Amino acid sequence: MRCPLVAGNWKMNLDRTRGSQLVAGIRAGLDSLGVCERVEVLVCPPAVYLYPIAEALKGTPIRLGAQDLYHEPNGAFTGEISAAMIAETGARYVIIGHSERRHTIGHLEDDRAINLKVRAARAAKLTPILCVGETLPERSAGLTLDVLTFQITAGLVGVSVVTGADLVVAYEPVWAIGTGQNATPQQAQEAHGHLRSRLHELVGPAADEVRILYGGSVKPDNAEAVMRQPDVDGGLIGGASLKADAFVGIVQAALAKVV
Ligand code: PEP
Repeated sequence: MRCPLVAGNWKMNLDRTRGSQLVAGIRAGLDSLGVCERVEVLVCPPAVYLYPIAEALKGTPIRLGAQDLYHEPNGAFTGEISAAMIAETGARYVIIGHSERRHTIGHLEDDRAINLKVRAARAAKLTPILCVGETLPERSAGLTLDVLTFQITAGLVGVSVVTGADLVVAYEPVWAIGTGQNATPQQAQEAHGHLRSRLHELVGPAADEVRILYGGSVKPDNAEAVMRQPDVDGGLIGGASLKADAFVGIVQAALAKVV
């Protein structure tokens, strides 16, 4: 049985004080649910807040992750942050290839850059959360599963996955992120089942241990239906991760999967 993972992607939001307050609120909510061993909970603040949020997380079961990294270990890469720097903060996860980095920000990351980042994360013993997902034109053209096959295959070139701690995948249809329009549970399961099959081909039996998260406008009221799908192992949550009660409500929906 895969332990569900609910990960909050804070994106470029909050500040040091409000981030710490959010952690306190999540902690209080999790204490009242008693979930700590049955659902893994992760927060991914902006990089400048990794250290203070690591402090705020001390003594809690909540884990820390980063939102991106640069694949080189060090050097003249102004503004970038290496995997080892992230690991030094106490973070254990890093989001890689988020759709905003693939499609919106700066020079737009391609699958080759994303693969290098996955490899760098693994070399620093971080667990990469590799994001994949189709755009609306790709879905309308019937290309969803082809896009997912391409992105998962390209993202994992040269990456060995032996246990579930080596990789998390997030299926995030681009048209569902921050739009309030989420995939139906059936659409999510079709994509997740497809990704699980491709993972079997790519990494072998460890595919059954890899968590595949759904992301895209997940809220407490729609979380349980999607989480109940057999190949959905939790969520990558954007907007709803910025409010303690909404985020804890989604953790509660993930808990329903394992009780
Ligand atoms: C995300 O940023 O990964 C995400 C899924 O955002 P939202 O939940 O706001 O759609």
